[in-house]
Amino acid sequence: MALIIGLVPILLVLGISGAVVYLLVAREARRKELVIELPIPTHLKDHFVPLGDKNTGRQVSGAIRCSCGCGDLAVWSSNERRLVIPVCGQCEKIFLLFDAGRHGWNGFVCGEDPLVRSEPVEEFCCPKCGQSSFGIGAVITSQGKEDFCRQALTGEDDLTPEDWVNAFDYIGISLRCRNCGWTDRRWSRQETL
Ligand SMILES: [Zn+2]
Ligand SMILES: [Zn+2]
Repeated sequence: MALIIGLVPILLVLGISGAVVYLLVAREARRKELVIELPIPTHLKDHFVPLGDKNTGRQVSGAIRCSCGCGDLAVWSSNERRLVIPVCGQCEKIFLLFDAGRHGWNGFVCGEDPLVRSEPVEEFCCPKCGQSSFGIGAVITSQGKEDFCRQALTGEDDLTPEDWVNAFDYIGISLRCRNCGWTDRRWSRQETL
């Protein structure tokens, strides 16, 4: 009996310190979740709004916006949608969404340019109503920062660890017509690795 009574304070101390350690670990895990880096390329920092709660360091989904905040966009493209240029319906700003010769592993890291630069860009019109104002969605996948640092930072060129976001391996672009609701979730799907 005396032995059991003697054990009680020891078990109490162990229990309390266990709980404290658990809380500290849980807090650290939450902190890490908050600072998770998403693979949003540098040129889209002001244009990509992550959506949903499934985004990780290897995949991010979201909406494309003009830097003025407007999500009504005209879409110009060429080279079978390997060059995609939205134009803001509000402030008329033109920005680059995807250029296979500059973005992604092949374009950014390897410097491969598959585009015919002289090919004219054409405005995409809704196949249902003919209008040209769209909401644009995008999915980007990446091998992750660690993989980039291991495979691309060979010291031969000017790449830095922060460039990992530009070395994505896939970009998918979806469109939704602002006028009639026509949607194409696979409007462009480009492997870039
Ligand atoms: Zn704008
Ligand atoms: Zn339409």
